[in-house]
Amino acid sequence: MKPILIATSNSGKLRDFAGAAQSHGVEVKSVPGFSSLPRAIEDGPTFDSNARKKAEHYSRFLSGEIVLADDSGLEIDALGGAPGVHSARYAAEKPHRTETNTDDEANNARVLRQLKGMPRDRRTGRFVCVIAAARDGQTVATFRGEAEGIILDRPRGSGGFGYDPLFYFPQIQKTFAQLAPEEKARYSHRGAAFRKFLAWYDQK
Ligand code: IMP
Repeated sequence: MKPILIATSNSGKLRDFAGAAQSHGVEVKSVPGFSSLPRAIEDGPTFDSNARKKAEHYSRFLSGEIVLADDSGLEIDALGGAPGVHSARYAAEKPHRTETNTDDEANNARVLRQLKGMPRDRRTGRFVCVIAAARDGQTVATFRGEAEGIILDRPRGSGGFGYDPLFYFPQIQKTFAQLAPEEKARYSHRGAAFRKFLAWYDQK
């Protein structure tokens, strides 16, 4: 089976995909020459629209191939669903701007400031991931995965990326930053979306 092509330069996402792929006996790899391709504009209002935009854009550079793109983020109930689609650039002055991703630590610090003093029962949220599969500039399918958890009041664990050290998953009493990639894939939004993709891909 050919490796599945993922349009991302985010090493955290790639590790997650590799972790999810491993237990299914498939291989994933980044789109060849990804960093030298013109960037997709992620200015959509939803995970779905941004995932489609990215997958369609990058698939134009790989004639006839299925290309996957993931758009994902953290929705915190007490913040009205923020950071949501702005998750990657939440610490930026204007997080709606699409070109300014901010670093994980700064994004986590902003979330912690905003939730300061909030009791645990109100610190609910979820990670959401939409994977779009596109070929020659057209989306052929999308797959959504979610993971429900609690946003801690301090980071825990040193693995993962993004908001993982703040995201506590009650079922296993650990944050996503305390899990190896294969284990994270079992519970995560990205793992769930990727399994749906694989079920679809197997039918083709
Ligand atoms: P995107 O590239 O616009 O999809 O950005 C996704 C952003 O959401 C990342 O930069 C992280 O801040 C956050 N995010 C998405 N998935 C995860 C995850 O699995 N763990 C931690 N943070 C995540």
